[in-house]
Amino acid sequence: MNTINEILETIRPNRSALFGFFSMMPKGGDLHHHYSGSIYTESYIDYVFQKDFFINEVTLELAKDISTLPAEIQKEWKKISQVINKEKLKLSLLRAWSIKDFVKGSQSGDEHFFATFTQFNLPSKEDYINGLNELKRRALNQKISYLETIFITLSTKDIQLPNETELDKQFLDIQKTKDTGALNLELEKIFKEYLQPVTTAANEHTRKVEKLHADSQVETNGFVLRFQNYVARYKQPIDVFIELFACFHSSDNSNLISGVNIVAAENGETSMRDYWLHTMFFKFLEGKYPKVRYAVHAGELVGGMVQPENLGTHIRQTLILDNLTRIGHAVDIIYDNDFINTIRKLQAKKTVIEINLSSNEFILGVANDLHPVEIYYRNHIPIVICTDDEGVLRTSITEQYVLLAHRYKLSYDEIKEVVTNSITYSNLEDGKIKTQLLEKLDSDFKEFEKNILEFYQPIVLEKDNFTALKFMSLS
Ligand SMILES: [Zn+2]
Repeated sequence: MNTINEILETIRPNRSALFGFFSMMPKGGDLHHHYSGSIYTESYIDYVFQKDFFINEVTLELAKDISTLPAEIQKEWKKISQVINKEKLKLSLLRAWSIKDFVKGSQSGDEHFFATFTQFNLPSKEDYINGLNELKRRALNQKISYLETIFITLSTKDIQLPNETELDKQFLDIQKTKDTGALNLELEKIFKEYLQPVTTAANEHTRKVEKLHADSQVETNGFVLRFQNYVARYKQPIDVFIELFACFHSSDNSNLISGVNIVAAENGETSMRDYWLHTMFFKFLEGKYPKVRYAVHAGELVGGMVQPENLGTHIRQTLILDNLTRIGHAVDIIYDNDFINTIRKLQAKKTVIEINLSSNEFILGVANDLHPVEIYYRNHIPIVICTDDEGVLRTSITEQYVLLAHRYKLSYDEIKEVVTNSITYSNLEDGKIKTQLLEKLDSDFKEFEKNILEFYQPIVLEKDNFTALKFMSLS
């Protein structure tokens, strides 16, 4: 009699057998993925063809209207329907909007990855109903029942900040001395002064997100969708604060927006410069909105990307935050010169680490033994497996589990625990929905295990790399 742990040990070296195994395995939830990067490029292409937008065939930029462009420039643009070689255009878009066929050259992996978001910006900001249904369809197909999607930007464009430049300068001056007292006084002042317009912007956003949730009718078949608000870390300090303030306010007032996040390239000049400020903004806002749970992208850095002394400090800085539930990526902990203490504190705080294997491999070149996934797991820091941007990366949650099992030595029971974490450590409140999802996961696992055992038990498994292939030829 083989146990499932033994079966997984035997097929571990064989990725084709692992795909067979993990395609069938229930996977709970995906807690770290961005809406726009999760839509597969083919869907964006279909949409822009159907809308017949204008395109610049050289730069692949899109526009709905080109009438305001100078006549000289207009010549470079045409309607998509007027493009002669449409198949060639589709392939070019597929390559520009995802990592398909990408070869490092004049552009680095991280540069290409982040550039895709600007390229497909126009279609990604429309057609949300189809987009959300695509996420649901893929989730169910991959045996995922819960998504916590980092969704759409909260617009604060109507909030007038007459003294923006002055406020930014003040923030940057305070950051130099890291005077938390002075910073909190300043934030308190801004909080009072802008509460009204921020509330208006936050409420408008909440209504928009809740309407999209209702109109998309995704919550059927035991599938649950929640959202995270987010702010982009490359903006100037006062903009980041006002948006984050509105993100917290909106999340605090909605059952469907179950979290807040901070995103975008961490190695950017402004992101690196303002990391301390951003952390202090979270600290301030968690005091104002103690019910709001949030995650941050932190430690998405690798040697060679920034100067060595800037590595291994970001995760450590988050330790001052009380309501931070999860950290996305957290790869650069390997460079922390207070590594043991940081690990111990993460353990004590039960901070969850969101692991994004394909994303880290493409953007950072971090894979295999350079990835700290086993360090976290073996030190009893909860981990969850996520996709980050499966559309851009052309991956899937199933592939993430294949990579986990193929590269790292987690047993089946341990992987099952990681899957359960994805519901337990979601930002869903403890209650009926969470209980139902956990019960469903449990019964799906029972069914999965029964099928796997029935299938594999008649076969004498041998501890060699070809057993899985032998097994396949038997079937
Ligand atoms: Zn991310």
